[in-house]
Amino acid sequence: MNIAVVGTGYVGLVTGTCFAETGNNVICVDIDQKKVERLRGGEVPIFEPGLELLFDRNTKEGRLHFTTNLKEAVDASQIIFLALPTPPGADGSADLRFIMGVAEDLSKIITDYKVIVDKSTVPVGTAEKVYAILDKKLDKRLFDVVSNPEFLREGVAVEDFLKPDRVVIGTSSEKAKKVMQKLYEPFVRQGNPIYFMDERSAEMTKYAANSYLATRISFMNEIANLCEKVGANVDSVRMGMGSDSRIGKRFLFPGIGYGGSCFPKDVQALAKTANEYQYEFKILESVMEVNDLQKTVLTQKIKAFYKNDLAGKTIAVWGLAFKPNTDDIREAPALVIIDELLEMGAKVKAFDPEAMGHVKAIYGDRVVFGKKMYDVLEDADCLAIMTEWSEFRTPDFEKMFKMLKSKVIFDGRNVYDLGNMAEMGVHYDSIGRP
Ligand code: NAD
Repeated sequence: MNIAVVGTGYVGLVTGTCFAETGNNVICVDIDQKKVERLRGGEVPIFEPGLELLFDRNTKEGRLHFTTNLKEAVDASQIIFLALPTPPGADGSADLRFIMGVAEDLSKIITDYKVIVDKSTVPVGTAEKVYAILDKKLDKRLFDVVSNPEFLREGVAVEDFLKPDRVVIGTSSEKAKKVMQKLYEPFVRQGNPIYFMDERSAEMTKYAANSYLATRISFMNEIANLCEKVGANVDSVRMGMGSDSRIGKRFLFPGIGYGGSCFPKDVQALAKTANEYQYEFKILESVMEVNDLQKTVLTQKIKAFYKNDLAGKTIAVWGLAFKPNTDDIREAPALVIIDELLEMGAKVKAFDPEAMGHVKAIYGDRVVFGKKMYDVLEDADCLAIMTEWSEFRTPDFEKMFKMLKSKVIFDGRNVYDLGNMAEMGVHYDSIGRP
């Protein structure tokens, strides 16, 4: 099949590459000229495990192309995916400017039947709005609009796309349904379902899934905070809870709050949608409030240890990305913490395996960056762990403690064993494990 993917970011590039991997011809479109040039030069501009291999194979096979010219891509394709940003607007609702702008452009370009597929996360009713824009200029027989939300996780995006737990397709058109079924069949050969539903339900499914996951995180963060007060260990509680099949083991890890480009904006946007329908989604309001507070928990611990005086203290930071295996720092809790530490007069030395370039672009020389994880420990008063990259899990503690001024670790991701830390005589403060 011939496919255009409009928007070549985390979702668009993975989507385009994975569709090419199953033999389709794919043209990815982006307005960012520099990005397109890098892609054309064979460079993958994001860090996503496994993506480069597929990207190389499919560009070499001539199945994956890049352009800034929307018309060229649309003319060559039957299916047009929109993988465009839907950032939060000033009032918290999803900003649909990019989607509507491209829909407007498409209405001027399309000359034969196309399936327009919305892969971006968009509020309920967006497929109808896109349809209305196209309908103004085009014959109804020339297009269908489908909602096909994406559930991939950054860090395992390729795996998630190639073997999705489920595919959700919202459409009221039998013709579009057949096209989408054919396109996705190679991805669900193990029997995972393709759920067909109406457009509004598909749009809602994505928000419901992300908001539920964010709720689980905020819930566990509150359990962890309470564990600290009552003298319980959240690790034990988590395992005791998670082995209940009604609950499940995943997504029960407390930490320093959720971040990334999805959960914060999607929870906010769903709450906003509820408001628009005169419904107060009380749980979501709390989820957001708890998350904002949780981003301050590690700083509170650091401040308490140094008796509110961080002036002249050097804090080594391991991990900047909002989670491991990505270079994405959008809404990363680490940045909130670093801001507060700098404001209190501390010096911050930071290391992240993939995300330092993006952080450097924001902080410049206000933060010192290390080439290797141990570099930042030299003469630091303590270490603060903000992202649980695998390489931080079993470090050379002897080497670490020779470099650090004192054996003090603040761990926002519960990476180390409490017993080991105690044995080594470390002042070790983690989340929900007093
Ligand atoms: P992104 O910011 O990484 O990428 C968006 C791309 O669109 C950018 O390269 C940008 O230059 C391009 N773009 C903007 N306007 C354009 C235009 N008019 N024409 C062509 N290209 C244009 O965003 P993302 O993380 O890939 O997210 C895209 C959507 O998918 C969002 O709605 C997001 O909520 C959703 N989503 C994201 C994830 C994730 O993990 N990142 C997962 C599921 C769903």
